Amino acid sequence: MKKEVFQFQTEVKQLLNLIIHSLYSNKEIFLRELISNASDAIDKLRFKAQTEPGLLGSDPDFRIRITADKEKNTLEISDNGVGMTWQEVIDNIGTIAKSGTAGFVEAIEKAKKESAFSPELIGQFGVGFYSAFIVADKVTLVTRAAGSDQAVKWESEGDGNYSIEETQKDTRGTTITLHLREVAEGDADADQNFTDEYEIRSIIKRHSDFISYPVIMAVEKDEPLPENEKVLDSDGKPIGPTTKKVVKDETLNSMKAIWSRNKSEVTEDEYEEFYRHISHNWDKPLDRLHMKFEGATEYDVLVYIPSKAPFDMYYQTRKNGLKLYCKRVLIMDNCEELLPEYMGFLEGIVDAPDLSLNVSREILQQDVLVKNIRKNVVKKVLEMLSKMDEEKYDSFYAEFGNSIKAGVAMDFGNKDKLSELVRFKTTKSEGKNVSLKKYVENMKLDQEFIYYITGDNLTALMNSPHLEALKEKDFEVLLMNEPVDEWVVQNLFEYSGKKLKSAEKGDLDIEKKDEKEIEAFKPVFEFIKGKLDENVKEVKASSRLKESVCCLSGEEYGMSAYMEKIMKASGQEMPKQKRILEINTSHPVFAKIKDMHDKNAANPDLEKYSKMLFDMALVAEGGKLENPASFVKAVGEIMAAAM
Ligand code: ADP
Ligand code: MG
Repeated sequence: MKKEVFQFQTEVKQLLNLIIHSLYSNKEIFLRELISNASDAIDKLRFKAQTEPGLLGSDPDFRIRITADKEKNTLEISDNGVGMTWQEVIDNIGTIAKSGTAGFVEAIEKAKKESAFSPELIGQFGVGFYSAFIVADKVTLVTRAAGSDQAVKWESEGDGNYSIEETQKDTRGTTITLHLREVAEGDADADQNFTDEYEIRSIIKRHSDFISYPVIMAVEKDEPLPENEKVLDSDGKPIGPTTKKVVKDETLNSMKAIWSRNKSEVTEDEYEEFYRHISHNWDKPLDRLHMKFEGATEYDVLVYIPSKAPFDMYYQTRKNGLKLYCKRVLIMDNCEELLPEYMGFLEGIVDAPDLSLNVSREILQQDVLVKNIRKNVVKKVLEMLSKMDEEKYDSFYAEFGNSIKAGVAMDFGNKDKLSELVRFKTTKSEGKNVSLKKYVENMKLDQEFIYYITGDNLTALMNSPHLEALKEKDFEVLLMNEPVDEWVVQNLFEYSGKKLKSAEKGDLDIEKKDEKEIEAFKPVFEFIKGKLDENVKEVKASSRLKESVCCLSGEEYGMSAYMEKIMKASGQEMPKQKRILEINTSHPVFAKIKDMHDKNAANPDLEKYSKMLFDMALVAEGGKLENPASFVKAVGEIMAAAM
């Protein structure tokens, strides 16, 4: 029969190393991970069997079985779930198949640098299976995919490679055998013996009680002897033992679906364990919503907000959605129809008894009940967010703020509620996030607009020449430094009756310019524009500037420089955007240029200075010069002349 030896993917090797050497504190979680996988595998088969009932064969009763062998020091976890084919074993167990391998390596590297490797990492990357190596020095997995008669055996000592071979297995599903590490007497952790019945029972109670399939173990019990087996004395009284030892299957978990229980009956620990089970995260959830919706139809909802964004939060490959149950039977794993895209950070379940078990994606999209559930979940989650205390909301926003911003741009119906939830840093907030409500409260008496500026560099924004006049008026400006902010301002035109206004586009409307004075600048403006024709569509006197000599601005409804940068970065073809060169006419540099121009418009230096004005404006807003070297050369010449 075929047998092959493979090297683990480098990342897996790293991970195994970390697991074996760093995960001592909470060894027992390996069992929860393996039971969780078994439960997932049964879910998958149950789902498949809806369209292919033949897959269940003569074994329709789902179960997970635990078998401990004290002599051999092994522990076995077996399920009759979907199983795996040869290739699936390689893909799922030998590699970290998730899209975010890069993200994973990055996080591990980072954690190592900060010597902050924590168990949360494991859950984040869905590598729960490897936790078997916390307690085992050899792991054997034998599996047969439902519908196949070929079984596969996978084995590894967690060192660097694993072997796969073809084998025989009578039933479908997966059996994992852990060859437990020997623990020396007196070791700090010698007290936990994973072959001990009582130990296993209590671990399962702690971590896996709500698993919806029976977790079965054969346990030894004392049973009363049947009458005909008892030995009696002459008075008819029994002599000798009245009980005998029998081995019987017992279900160790209560299988209670926690969402269908009363809130008051579910403990914090149970809520947290359930969260870990469905989200494959290890962290504590930040918050949760557990509700029974009643009305024409009833349904249960239990959703959690994670405390950390998953590494693949904004990847295309991320699967969003809630688990959809019908009377406690899982009918869809990532039901996207239950959530708007921007709420993809939620983890949780919906149990809607009135849905059909065989409902398909296409039907779900049309389903009125599903639409209703979605609407109500969104409503309740927005409510929950708006009631969070400030500290908690801040930590939520640090992880998922971009989702809320996306909501402003995407969810028209809830725009008002979402606009209460967005936060921005401002020129006055000293790095803190500020709500629009607070911004408006702080507006000056003579301030008409909510001012903002977009760009990718917070320091550049904070010090942007565009803000000079606004700062002088002591007006606060929102600093928008995320790509998503561009979509926010394209969709959020006003808040609380105040219009949003870009600090770098159109007119600031804070000062009237002296028309006569401007007339006098026209010839020199025309001259400068002539030299910058490629990049500049207009040269004009600025009302934005107080200290700097010039800046670039856009038209009121034109594209911002940041937006242009984002579009280019995403590979979008775009016509060249010409900007407006604004000049601070009270600046001595401009006075000199005007003077030179008045005296002799043919002075060759004028062209050089015009180009420098443009480059200076671009540098000040954090833009990229087309020819940085020539700019630096020009500056050098001027310095040499001045010094
Ligand atoms: P996760 O459960 O987050 O996907 P794991 O490391 O726990 O990550 O498991 C990796 C993969 O291995 C699973 O996604 C699944 O495809 C496969 N797997 C693990 N255990 C089983 C099992 N008992 N039956 C079938 N497939 C399994
Ligand atoms: Mg798992």
